[in-house]
Amino acid sequence: MRVLLLLAVVAAVTAMKRYDGAPLPTHGGRELWCDSGVARARASVRQAKGVAESVRLTRAGRWKRFKVLRVIPKDESDVAWIQNLELHSLVEIWNSLHRSNHPVDVMVTPANEVQVTGLLADRGLDYTVMIADVQAQLDSQAVASDTPPGASTAALADFQYDIYHTYDQIQQWVSDMATEHNSIVSKFNLAKSYEGRDINGIKISTGVGDPNKPIVWFEGGIHAREWISPATVMFISKSLVEDYNNGVTNVVNILDGFDFHIIPSLNVDGFVYTHTNDRLWRKTRSDLLPEFGCIGADPNRNWPYEWGGSGSSPWPCTNIFRGREPLSEVEIRAVVDYLTALRDSGREIKMFIDWHSYSQLWMAPWSFSSAEPLPPDADDQDNLGAAAVAAIEKKHGTKYVHGASARLLYEAAGASCDWAYATLGAKYSYVVELRDTGKFGFVLPPEQILPTAEESYAGIVAGLEYALTH
Ligand SMILES: [Zn+2]
Repeated sequence: MRVLLLLAVVAAVTAMKRYDGAPLPTHGGRELWCDSGVARARASVRQAKGVAESVRLTRAGRWKRFKVLRVIPKDESDVAWIQNLELHSLVEIWNSLHRSNHPVDVMVTPANEVQVTGLLADRGLDYTVMIADVQAQLDSQAVASDTPPGASTAALADFQYDIYHTYDQIQQWVSDMATEHNSIVSKFNLAKSYEGRDINGIKISTGVGDPNKPIVWFEGGIHAREWISPATVMFISKSLVEDYNNGVTNVVNILDGFDFHIIPSLNVDGFVYTHTNDRLWRKTRSDLLPEFGCIGADPNRNWPYEWGGSGSSPWPCTNIFRGREPLSEVEIRAVVDYLTALRDSGREIKMFIDWHSYSQLWMAPWSFSSAEPLPPDADDQDNLGAAAVAAIEKKHGTKYVHGASARLLYEAAGASCDWAYATLGAKYSYVVELRDTGKFGFVLPPEQILPTAEESYAGIVAGLEYALTH
């Protein structure tokens, strides 16, 4: 243990040298440790302990009696204080951090619960228990997410959109979509993942009208544990194809107006890991800084635009680790290379949506800075967001919030939607955070898959109709 700790300290100090000049360690753009050398040395020891704890927690992969608490910060300093709890590995923050007066959901281990609730009481912060036993939540879903007999080889007509699927089943779905709808759907291979898995997607192209139509890009599953994302992206894809085949007028117009390139599950290594080892894994599975003993980077802090700024971390053991450098994660490099090549071949990328959960948000640029003036296309971006959110609510009454990302949430640099807008030139670039608002968080029950997917389909159809004429 002592040797491990020593190694971790050495690694932390090495990292400090490597990241010289970057705020360290930083959450939400805030320097949480003071600047003096003594404090920095102390910080590296604390961080090293955090490293060891993270490794232990991650490898344990069991969530029995882990709780999710909802804490209501009174001001920005409370939010920073909660972030500091995470830095000390006392809690794991689940939701995206909102500006001002919005609840923060934190997962706490049984071992840390008394200390954490004591610290909250000392600070005068109220909390409620959102999930009393994370393992019990996960167990209640285990049956529903098991493979139904023959599902992986069943025809597309038997594919169940109301359960969660495995990597193999999703890849099979991609192949089946291309086979059964071969007049308008084809399969493409984006790349191989870090661990060598195929990342496959579908293109939907009716061939009607302009052979070089503007392109719509959807990517699901960039964060591994957000299982509702691939499920929703698959449902949206099949609904577009079916409604087109059935002659639904607005969908015919949409598919004759745009070509779609869709990756249902991008972070496939992380996704497989959520099935085999740790249901709550978020990051990739790369091992590019092995001296830290922590695997993976946050793929949504790894995009090559404003990389390294607020709301991302240089520490490999955190959940918002930005990666060794921009595009260090092969999965992100693959998307960037693919879309850049399409654009350079003369195609317009009209829309880019990165589907996440949870929080029920429809967010436009910018993500990296709340002080940055809104983009020149902000009005149209906001109008599309408003149309989508209205259609979502109309379907099942679910309320979403739309707006510029960093003005709703704390800043997050190196995120997909900023790159897609600023560098790629996708006018309608969004991060969508699907259901729910925290009752189940990442462990959204299968009963909510279809309603989530149906309302999301209504939302995106409304958005695409707007994009056809704006
Ligand atoms: Zn996410």
